[in-house]
Amino acid sequence: MIDFNKLIDNHLIKENKPREIGKYWPSEVGSCLRKVWYSYKIPKETDSNLLRIFESGNLLHEFIANVIKSEKNPDVELLKAEMPIKIEEKEFTVSGRVDNLVMLKINNEEVLVEVKSTKFLRNEPQESHVTQLQLYMHATGVQKGIVLYIQKDNLQTRWFNFTYDKKKAEKILARFKVLHETLKKDKIPEPEAKKCKELNWMCNYCHWKDECDEQEKGLNRFMK
Ligand code: SF4
Repeated sequence: MIDFNKLIDNHLIKENKPREIGKYWPSEVGSCLRKVWYSYKIPKETDSNLLRIFESGNLLHEFIANVIKSEKNPDVELLKAEMPIKIEEKEFTVSGRVDNLVMLKINNEEVLVEVKSTKFLRNEPQESHVTQLQLYMHATGVQKGIVLYIQKDNLQTRWFNFTYDKKKAEKILARFKVLHETLKKDKIPEPEAKKCKELNWMCNYCHWKDECDEQEKGLNRFMK
């Protein structure tokens, strides 16, 4: 008998290429720094359930791009979708294609829209999403941005407007510098998500939770 779950898993499976220190992905900036660090030091396959969640998000991002480029919406123009981002710093590069990022034109003005699918609409944007948007604005030179949430079960949306903030962008790049230094020196960063109440939820989706817990219990594998 045919197994559709298996077909989906086969379709979504990706080859896990080893990460190279000095080359970072733009979307990683909103994650717990220690988690990103682990992804270089102890690489793991992405879980099939997580791949499905990512893919359902991608389908909604594609839907939003189609909505924007629809001829029934002449007030907005889709300029770019799935945008490549590249920031070259002295010691490292932040680059990659950002699946959930679109650039559009409203009233003759360019605006970046970071699309996030969600189970329920929030009253406030998630800080890590704002961080990502600021980095994308920094990389593209676009001064206006929106974090757009779309609810998975009913396609209702809520959005938050931002303008580029150079100081914030510099702070964000400083995070990549910390990541780069700790990776080079084999020194484990602080468990950010454990330490900050608003970020605790990230630990529930972390592939390295066991290693991180052990590290914090003093069963040190890596130097702090
Ligand atoms: S368990 Fe939490 S604190 Fe530890 S690496 Fe994962 S996300 Fe970060």
